[in-house]
Amino acid sequence: MSKKLDAFLNENLGELKEQGLYNEIDPVEGPNGPVIKVRGKDLINLSSNNYLGLATNEELKKLAKDAIDKYGVGAGAVRTINGTLDIHVKLEEKLAEFKGTEAAISFQSGFNCNMAAISGVMDKNDAILSDQLNHASIIDGCRLSRAKIIAFKHSDMDDLRQKAKEATESGLYNKVMVITDGVFSMDGDIAKLPEIVEIAKEFDLITYVDDAHGSGVTGKGKGTVKHFGLEKEVDLQMGTLSKAVGVVGGYVAGKQNLIDWLKVRARPFLFSTAVPPGDVAAIIGALQMIMDSTELHDKLWDNGDYLKKGLKELGFNIGESETPITPCIIGDEKLTQQFSKRLFEEGVYAKSIVFPTVPKGTGRVRNMPTAAHTKEMLDDAIATYEKVGKELGVIN
Ligand SMILES: *Cc1c(COP(=O)(O)O)cnc(C)c1O
Repeated sequence: MSKKLDAFLNENLGELKEQGLYNEIDPVEGPNGPVIKVRGKDLINLSSNNYLGLATNEELKKLAKDAIDKYGVGAGAVRTINGTLDIHVKLEEKLAEFKGTEAAISFQSGFNCNMAAISGVMDKNDAILSDQLNHASIIDGCRLSRAKIIAFKHSDMDDLRQKAKEATESGLYNKVMVITDGVFSMDGDIAKLPEIVEIAKEFDLITYVDDAHGSGVTGKGKGTVKHFGLEKEVDLQMGTLSKAVGVVGGYVAGKQNLIDWLKVRARPFLFSTAVPPGDVAAIIGALQMIMDSTELHDKLWDNGDYLKKGLKELGFNIGESETPITPCIIGDEKLTQQFSKRLFEEGVYAKSIVFPTVPKGTGRVRNMPTAAHTKEMLDDAIATYEKVGKELGVIN
């Protein structure tokens, strides 16, 4: 190994470990359902994004297996050579139907979808107005585009309008985009899309909504853009197939010309192998389930409301979430980590999230209830929160 690299790694890893910021990964020894096994221990799982429980759904497993029997385990090539199987086309038709748009393009992940789509339409002559709490993949996609990045204060519409005015009137930029998460994953709040769309109309901004945590959850399952009835107003509806949909992948839904363009310009579409057929078949099935019935969606919201109510009644600060995402804000970073560790020992898996993922002094244990949790599991989790909360002096 290069001496320089070795020194770099040792120094930086040492520093992280000293500061208690080195993340140790616990492998899950089985399916990522409402109860998981970690280090041989069964735990109530409040940390997955498997909102509707579809990641472990029996019907979807069957669809994936059948597709593997028919097509094999891999797609064999990138989409533009001959990795586009007929089921990829079907998937994209299904996505357009799901999102209420003319067309859609799918990618291998939500992360690479943001890298692909933002840099596919924006370039160094453009500017991007980006909510300061946007997801890392949006930030990286913006950077990759080489457009000027102008952050606006989180969901602050006066700040956005002011910056949109300055950017468009400056004459410095060709195109200007506004980009936001649909649902913000650390707090569970929903973007102010009606106002964003209004500002976008006023200044002719391109609108881009990353609804990774909204699809399957908000808008009766159809997402945050649908929740506000703005399917015709948002230019790029981006989402992931890995959270509520339960499998893997990302997509953009929008007008036909936008999708046609991304199919010739989005680099991961051109240079990275297509999503495997088993996954594609499971995704199509999952989207159909979400469109056919709100049963899982309703169960998810019931469970979210139940958990929130339980924690709030105990005196925990659960923030201002408008979705099932339930942060339990503890504040101090060390105490937050200790809290999560004690929950683990008592049988609840809920990860601590601290600076730099969230602002200093707002450390939290984030809870992700799903449709697959039973009331008994949630009661157990709430009782454990009470025990640990009292023990550590977080509640009285
Ligand atoms: C999780 C997430 C992504 C990445 O999606 P993957 O499919 O997991 O790569 C992108 N944007 C947001 C807002 C997310 O929460």
